[in-house]
Amino acid sequence: GSERKGKQRTPAYLSFSDIGGQDRAKKELQEALDFLIKPDDIKRFGIRPLKGILLTGPPGTGKTLMAKASAHYSDSIFMAASGSEFVEMYVGVGASRVRDLFKDARARAQKENKDSAIIFIDEIEVIGGKRDGGQQREYDQTLNQLLTEMDGIHTDDFPRILIMAATNRKEMLDSALTRPGRFDRHIQVDLPDKKGRNHILHIHANNKPLAEEVSLDKIAEQSFGFSGAQLESVMNEAAIYAMRESSESIAQHHLSLAIDKVMLGEKSDRETTM
Ligand code: ATP
Repeated sequence: GSERKGKQRTPAYLSFSDIGGQDRAKKELQEALDFLIKPDDIKRFGIRPLKGILLTGPPGTGKTLMAKASAHYSDSIFMAASGSEFVEMYVGVGASRVRDLFKDARARAQKENKDSAIIFIDEIEVIGGKRDGGQQREYDQTLNQLLTEMDGIHTDDFPRILIMAATNRKEMLDSALTRPGRFDRHIQVDLPDKKGRNHILHIHANNKPLAEEVSLDKIAEQSFGFSGAQLESVMNEAAIYAMRESSESIAQHHLSLAIDKVMLGEKSDRETTM
């Protein structure tokens, strides 16, 4: 299968209500997905099919969650791959993997009786980075194959295919990818604001015993600049602190410690890579 490795923490079926904050991005995405769900209207108005949606924004903000929720929302097959999977391959292998991905998506949709399939490609900049004279030629075949597949999508196709791609380096993308008829719908997935952080904390506290005194609102205030992935870590680390102390439940001080830990962890990560 082409389920991506390393991100198995998220369930296969995930809905928009499992994603905290990101109200504007979710709304824009749902509006775009209605194009996939209402093909007759699209055809009547002579609108060309929506082929590609690009999700942009910092790491850990929920782009992968958005793609999965989109599949659930539109009752589509979900297939995922990462740009980096195509890197260490011999010339031509990347291109044939792209071809197989589309073929598998169509076959799976047919087998599972679905009208549509969503193909999610994370780290799209790895295969779709700007081409500067001669470099990266082996990836060019991969990119060309992706463009060929996208150009081959037509209004009457069945099952319908939508490609979603994610990047945190939009400026690096080759303009061949972003021009009309390709990834022409861009949705920005930003770091959550305080309300969004509160929502995300509540989602990840759902399966955890919290002490009465706990104010997630306060934690949301103290975690300015945190991504959804970092907030998930905060809840998890707090639970570990509570368990180590043989505490009945997670208390406010466990959460405060966890914030420090996640913040420090990020810092030392950065120091070692710099
Ligand atoms: P990357 O760019 O690193 O691939 P991403 O934007 O795709 O990151 P996800 O993989 O979707 O981020 O998120 C990672 C994890 O962080 C999720 O599995 C989830 O636990 C948590 N998370 C991130 N954003 C949110 C959110 N908005 N609501 C709830 N959980 C979130």
